[in-house]
Amino acid sequence: MKKADIGLVGLAVMGENLILNMESKGFTVACYNRTVEKVDHFVQGRGKGKKIIGCHSIEELIQNLEKPRKIMMMVKAGKAVDDLIEQLLPHLDDGDILIDGGNSHFPDTTRRTEYVESKGKLYIGTGVSGGEEGALTGPSIMPGGSPAAWPHVKPILQAIAAKVEDGTPCCDWVGEKGAGHFVKMVHNGIEYGDMQLICEAYQLMKDLLGMSADEMHKVFKAWNEGDLNSYLIEITRDILAFKDEDEQPLVDKILDTAGQKGTGKWTAIAALDEGIALTLIGEAVFARCLSAIKEERVAASKVLSGPTPKFKGSKKAFIEDIKNALYASKIVSYAQGYTLMRAAAKTYGWNLNYGGIALMWRGGCIIRSIFLGDIKKAFDKNPDLTNLLLDPFFKEKVEAVQASWRRVVARAAENGIPIPAFSTALCYFDGFRSERLPANLLQAQRDYFGAHTYERVDKARGEFFHTNWTGRG
Ligand code: NAP
Repeated sequence: MKKADIGLVGLAVMGENLILNMESKGFTVACYNRTVEKVDHFVQGRGKGKKIIGCHSIEELIQNLEKPRKIMMMVKAGKAVDDLIEQLLPHLDDGDILIDGGNSHFPDTTRRTEYVESKGKLYIGTGVSGGEEGALTGPSIMPGGSPAAWPHVKPILQAIAAKVEDGTPCCDWVGEKGAGHFVKMVHNGIEYGDMQLICEAYQLMKDLLGMSADEMHKVFKAWNEGDLNSYLIEITRDILAFKDEDEQPLVDKILDTAGQKGTGKWTAIAALDEGIALTLIGEAVFARCLSAIKEERVAASKVLSGPTPKFKGSKKAFIEDIKNALYASKIVSYAQGYTLMRAAAKTYGWNLNYGGIALMWRGGCIIRSIFLGDIKKAFDKNPDLTNLLLDPFFKEKVEAVQASWRRVVARAAENGIPIPAFSTALCYFDGFRSERLPANLLQAQRDYFGAHTYERVDKARGEFFHTNWTGRG
């Protein structure tokens, strides 16, 4: 057999499916796994009869690769990646390329790129989104790292990536060092936000409107045929229709405690580091935290009282309001996510292509939606757009639905239904469009207790004043 076009280390869910995807696109792939039995199991099982070379050692893997060697690491994020780099480096020639396709934290990717480059080799850290099925049939791929590596891996990564309607791959160069993993991290943060928004819409329908899972299934089905068409709405539609063995909706039997692996938290921390109001993703992370303290909530529910949800009026009209509130909140979430990427690009010197990022997220990944096509158009029209809310298309959309949005937030508050993501999105919208916020008082407070000084509206910016607020010396 000819030498392999690429090697892959890590035969778990993602690794196996990526190999099969690469092979189906005509590439020969060499593979290796720390637990070596998994190599034979894979090559003689799912990989049988395919152009896949099973290797039982790193040396064997290296010998089976075309130069410059390209080795994709699909192992557990964290220390495993550093360990693997150390094992691989001594066997590589200058110009060989290591690719980390796991969910690594972007500062680690920056550090690893610098380290591997210092050894004369090239490095790529790439987000891969789409889960198990995406890895097999076409994920969204967000590569960053050593620019010199890109032309060598581009044909492979673009061949295996998802494609949008006109055949454009959902994979393009993102930027240097940790840029690819940063963009993947923001993708995951937005995924947290989108999921939370859908859950809030579900809770309003269930607890305020008293709807059954079957009724909600029909609503999500209809939503998926309009502006909200997306993978997450689609799977929600299907989840709501799914019946347990006793023909009751399975979703009703699932314990209401959410897990998390940390990429949403990383996104929120990055926003705090950059000083960006990424409120919706932050609330989505906190909503998972609150859900996780089930025992405390059960105890509190017996002590703390609130209104019993009661709905009066047209259910049909309110469902339309919920849809509008979801759409408007989603615009805010993406607006916030993009402001974070813009801030990070400035901090880290990345030249990010914002329309290109929307295109990479348009297909293959968990947040894929037709909405991202509109975001791409907005950035194509104006690459310097500072906030998505200022794009004429999205401005019009938000203005058209904002009365609905306000009704949903107000009704939820009156009825004691927590909708942190819908609410924070509306607060951000109102804050962002406010010429004057109460931070004048805040600055006065800071100056009062800490002599932090303030600027005045009737003086030039950059001139600072301090007042002796107590008159004491
Ligand atoms: P995983 O469960 O995260 O990792 C298992 C793989 O890592 C196994 O091949 C394991 O080898 C290997 N491994 C662990 N520690 C190692 C070490 N110290 N040295 C060498 N190999 C080591 O697998 P996964 O779910 O396929 O995910 C792979 C990467 O993709 C992760 O970073 C994950 O976060 C990311 N990702 C996953 C998904 C998903 O849907 N699962 C989606 C996107 C991205 P052994 O067999 O020897 O234990």
